[in-house]
Amino acid sequence: MRETIGDIDILAAAGDAEAAIAALTGWTRVRRVLAAGETKASVLIETDGGERQVDLRIVASDSFGAALQYFTGSKAHNVKLRGLAKDRGLKVNEYGVFRGGKKIAGGQEAGIYEALGLPWIPPELREDRGEIERAGEGRLPVLIERADIRGDLHCHTKASDGRLTLEALVDLARSMGHEYVAVCDHSRSARYAGGLTPERLKAQGGEIDALNRRLKGFRVLKGTEVDILPDGSIDFPDKALEGLDFVVASVHSAFKKDVTARMIKALAHPAVDMIGHPSGRLLTGREGYEVDLEKVIEAARERGKAMELNCHVDRLDLGDIRLRMAKDKGVRIGLGTDTHDADGPAMMRFGIGQARRGWLENSDVLNTLTAAGLAAWRRSRK
Ligand SMILES: [Zn+2]
Ligand SMILES: [Zn+2]
Repeated sequence: MRETIGDIDILAAAGDAEAAIAALTGWTRVRRVLAAGETKASVLIETDGGERQVDLRIVASDSFGAALQYFTGSKAHNVKLRGLAKDRGLKVNEYGVFRGGKKIAGGQEAGIYEALGLPWIPPELREDRGEIERAGEGRLPVLIERADIRGDLHCHTKASDGRLTLEALVDLARSMGHEYVAVCDHSRSARYAGGLTPERLKAQGGEIDALNRRLKGFRVLKGTEVDILPDGSIDFPDKALEGLDFVVASVHSAFKKDVTARMIKALAHPAVDMIGHPSGRLLTGREGYEVDLEKVIEAARERGKAMELNCHVDRLDLGDIRLRMAKDKGVRIGLGTDTHDADGPAMMRFGIGQARRGWLENSDVLNTLTAAGLAAWRRSRK
């Protein structure tokens, strides 16, 4: 669940290693077999963007847990674990944990940690950012899980630059097992994205009211992704924001112009709930805003507002380090898939991965609240 990956490593325990190797090398997506031996194979597979190397490694069942732990990494985490083992007179490698010549663990990953006197550490935490110490103290965070999420806080429809009708968005959200979805179309200044005027926002609110009257056990939240303008003001008059259930404020223009001050000013607006994609980066190649996120997170804390974890795979914004910073300051995080089409809602999975990397627990995340709980959270701040 790192932001980006290189090769794909697949680890398997197999009774018939030859059959496992053949299953990979014979796969229809394989373009070229780079190597195929008795316990290892490397292939290039076809991907959307070109090709990617996949390495398969077959190990004995009684080493599977050790190999899984070893190849999962990170390097920093494993170096610290090996040090810990040494202090206890043990040795850890990809085959197992050994005391002298005797193997005391290896088949199960949890057994590797247990042999070192630790509980199993979730892979997303394995970065040597304090997780080994916390595990030793029995104080690992209870990380958020996909099933804890009750709704999506950032989705677009055909009204702005999305491809989905309101009804299609609701169907998708329900198929994800959600109880609500916040419709957050763009505001008028985002002309390239068909941003809504106050009149159109109001009309959309009427459609949502009508839809909600028909829906049972699900609620569509009236929202907006309102532009933070170059002077830090909000792209809608206060009156247009009245009656909305959730307001995301995002920078979509003037990336070099006082982004920190603009976000802080936006957070001061009583109707704003959350800053959208706060760093502005795109993992495929845009640096992001010139922004001091620590100051923005601090302002969110003072105002009782949230910061977004935009779950789109090209954003994952905030990223893990900033998520942890927000958590440590007591700032709530809202997960939004920034859905524009039918593939969007499934991005929640990657958001959850990033949230877990940021040590987030159930109580750190707005989306674990019911729709009523979310409304209460809004009312609770003056
Ligand atoms: Zn946006
Ligand atoms: Zn958006």
